[in-house]
Amino acid sequence: MSIFSKRTIGLLTKHQKEKVIASVLEPQIGCFIQHTDAYDTDLLGTFTQETPRYGSQLDAARKKAVLGMELLGLDIGIANEGVFINDPYAGIMPWNNELLVLIDHQHQLEITGFSGAPAQNNNAYLSHWEELQKFADSALFPSHYLILKPTDEYHPQSRKGIQDLANLRDAFEWAKSLSEKGIVYVENDLRAFANPSRMENIQKATINLANKMASLCPRCHTPGFWVNDIQRGLPCNACGLPTNEEIAKIWACLKCTHKETEGMKVLKFADPSKCHHCNP
Ligand SMILES: [Zn+2]
Ligand SMILES: [Zn+2]
Repeated sequence: MSIFSKRTIGLLTKHQKEKVIASVLEPQIGCFIQHTDAYDTDLLGTFTQETPRYGSQLDAARKKAVLGMELLGLDIGIANEGVFINDPYAGIMPWNNELLVLIDHQHQLEITGFSGAPAQNNNAYLSHWEELQKFADSALFPSHYLILKPTDEYHPQSRKGIQDLANLRDAFEWAKSLSEKGIVYVENDLRAFANPSRMENIQKATINLANKMASLCPRCHTPGFWVNDIQRGLPCNACGLPTNEEIAKIWACLKCTHKETEGMKVLKFADPSKCHHCNP
């Protein structure tokens, strides 16, 4: 029996993340998710230019989790914080990193879940309705909502959560009329409820969190027993010098000093193509 089963976990969000988070955690962990939107999480940061994010991604997630626990009077809470960047491979595709944090005051425990994946995020400057229609198609509208602003992304006024053609047309005329040169800025609305590809990634991060919550330390049974380090330095097959290739995964407990080594590659060597001495 898990230390989380039958417990009520607080979740502060006003962007409808409770459905996907509860659908993963409740059946897998046997806990209950209690949702509140009694605090405006946009005050801790927005994807649009109005409010810079509170601290790092983890800081912001922790802050939300604790606020949710306080609002609901619970000793355990969960929260999500997402960022959009360029993909870590070629640096050209929109990429979305979703982080979940679970804070359990009763057991003095913090467990994180993570998923990085492509998600819809695009923007453009345009001045004709036909251009906007073309952009909307490429930006997966209307399943993914849009935001319009006059002139550029720094304009103080905006129309957010645009989800149908009539509203898009209306917002376009509005933004154009407020823009000196008739230029309109359009972007995907990245809030979870407005961006299904992001919501899918939040679900993946929740699955990652659930797996960690269910993984117990073999020695002290604390949940969250997971890979915390990767040992690199597999020797090159040609010159014998260490490469950046993986030797083993190190699993570690969050509470005690117990560690386990997984997949130790004994008497194995890295291909010289991975060696920066042989193949710089
Ligand atoms: Zn080498
Ligand atoms: Zn342990």
